[in-house]
Amino acid sequence: MELEVEVAAALHEFAARLAALDPAPVRSAGVALRVGDADPVVLSESVAAALCTALRSYHDPRDRGRCAQCGGPRLDEGLQCLDCGQPAGLFGQLIRERMARHQ
Ligand SMILES: [Zn+2]
Repeated sequence: MELEVEVAAALHEFAARLAALDPAPVRSAGVALRVGDADPVVLSESVAAALCTALRSYHDPRDRGRCAQCGGPRLDEGLQCLDCGQPAGLFGQLIRERMARHQ
């Protein structure tokens, strides 16, 4: 329930912040989002478009790219793949090349 309230509040704040920049929104188009049992948050067309842009441009700080070996999306802080265990990135490539020379 607390999470629903927080998400609904964030949507309301986002819509209000952008509504101030768009004094004449298109009335006929838009979207209403309902979070839990709360009243729906009505987004104008421009606010809905901005929300889509914001969601698509979000970069999670845990997203460290993909593993060059298996393509897995889960790399730890040391850039080691949590799926195949191989070190990722240029550093990982250097390590793999060095290990191959020693084998
Ligand atoms: Zn991998």
